[in-house]
Amino acid sequence: MKGIGISPGLVLGKAFVYKEESLFKRYYVKCQREEVDRLKVALDQAKKEIELIYNESKTLVGEDADIFIAHKEMLEDPELINGIIDIIINEGINSEWAIHKVINNFISLFKLRNNEYIDAKIIDLKDISSRLIRILAGSKLAAPLEWEGELIIIAKELTPSNILQMDKRVRGIVTEFGGITSHTSILSKASNIPMVIGVNNITELVVDGDFIILDAYEGRIILNPCEDAIKEYQERKRQRIKFWELHRVRDRETITQDGYKVKVTGNIAGVEDIKNLLAVGAEGVGLFRTENLFLEGLLDEEEQFQLYKRAVDLLGNHQLTIRTLDVGGDKAIPYLNLPKENNPFLGLRGIRVSLLREELFKIQLRAIYRASIYGSLRLMFPMISRIEEIRAAKALIAQVQEELMKEGIPFEPVEIGMMVETPAAAIHSAAFAREVDFFSIGTNDLIQYTLAVDRDNKNVMELYDPYHPAVLRLIKLVIDNGCRAGIKVSMCGELASNSKLIPLFLAMGLDEFSMDHNLILNSKYIISRSNRGELEGQVDLILNLSTSCEVEKYLDNLITNILN
Ligand code: PEP
Ligand code: MG
Repeated sequence: MKGIGISPGLVLGKAFVYKEESLFKRYYVKCQREEVDRLKVALDQAKKEIELIYNESKTLVGEDADIFIAHKEMLEDPELINGIIDIIINEGINSEWAIHKVINNFISLFKLRNNEYIDAKIIDLKDISSRLIRILAGSKLAAPLEWEGELIIIAKELTPSNILQMDKRVRGIVTEFGGITSHTSILSKASNIPMVIGVNNITELVVDGDFIILDAYEGRIILNPCEDAIKEYQERKRQRIKFWELHRVRDRETITQDGYKVKVTGNIAGVEDIKNLLAVGAEGVGLFRTENLFLEGLLDEEEQFQLYKRAVDLLGNHQLTIRTLDVGGDKAIPYLNLPKENNPFLGLRGIRVSLLREELFKIQLRAIYRASIYGSLRLMFPMISRIEEIRAAKALIAQVQEELMKEGIPFEPVEIGMMVETPAAAIHSAAFAREVDFFSIGTNDLIQYTLAVDRDNKNVMELYDPYHPAVLRLIKLVIDNGCRAGIKVSMCGELASNSKLIPLFLAMGLDEFSMDHNLILNSKYIISRSNRGELEGQVDLILNLSTSCEVEKYLDNLITNILN
């Protein structure tokens, strides 16, 4: 069966058919005066209910809630109320029937004038009528209490009040009539209840308790579906939920199920990448690979300063982590005239080049410090393997600071960190932690140097193994040592966005995951679904597995459980 989906969602549940006429009967009253009093009590209660609904719906739909003010005014309209009272007195019949009769007369008159405004007015009249009748008859729009699971309400038409006062088990709505822009539709959307309207004769075709798939994305209703269809739609629902949840985590801080907060940040190669990062909810930049700025030619201090300044400006309150020049290895910059090497990955790379070409390094440091007054930034050095390298780099920073001070150029204190991407840095991380303000684990290089596998060599691709227990043990060591020293530990290599490894690193206590913008939503989602406390107990068990295959299998199960 097809209709028009007006509030998106997918529900698999039991049908509850709502037929309003069954709520009341016509009968003669013994005393008309008493019946009028009964009506007046119901009118007072209806007005109180409407006030409550108005306040509740105001936060949901803003100005659209004003229809409830109109409802209250209708209940005070002398023409309408006196019409009902006249019928009770003159015909001696019950209030419910009198209301039904008067409202139906009004509706018939309105229907003669066919326009959208009138349609809305008719719904309003039906709404106040059903509210009064429900109060008088003491009944509610509710399915039998013993019904479990998600319910789908099937009705000819529903009013805005029906939506707001609905049984909490109702997760979907199907109606025969209704308008796309009606208040009922607006409220169902605002209340996140999937709704399909315009399904012919649905109240005749469905009976209470029928099982239904309601696909309000497509406006489709499947009555008493077969097992295969149920399975297919359950899977679709999981996918849809994931899609929406992914978008929901975008604008939130990244917090695990048990309240542990981490940061998911981005890796950039240029300032223009920041826009993409912010669009997917990155909480800062965890790695700015500045060597990319130098591919075309050397940048002077002013040019670099302008770029770093623009980056912190764009990031607002988020932090920028600038990695100083990491040339060498696979990133050769010909105009630097560095010597030709047989084994560049083990040669002049990263900090080694910067310390060799101090004049170049100091220009970059000056530009970074000058930009420090414009926002939150920190810097880190690549390819560190010796304590002496950190100390030499910090001595240059001290020189730069002194020069800037002498020149009267303002700057702010900047956190100084290091990449942990050589086994030496990882193994000796307890000592390094005393020298720096933070660590950032570079798993791309850490894997290649630990496993003696060139990260770009096709012949040994299979051996470039992120699940190798030796690599994971080194990572754990770095996090532990960072944690003991009270410094933050990030990861900016590719492993930071590996879905299977994220829960493990979370359990180890990693503070920040930095990655390509495409993987940010997914990673934030995984973290927000994880329970760090529960995972912690499994770290030793995983690290004690013998092979990467066993590790991967274990982590595979873990992530499946987290996502289901
Ligand atoms: C790393 O080695 O993990 C890293 C992030 O640095 P790069 O990939 O730039 O060498
Ligand atoms: Mg590296």
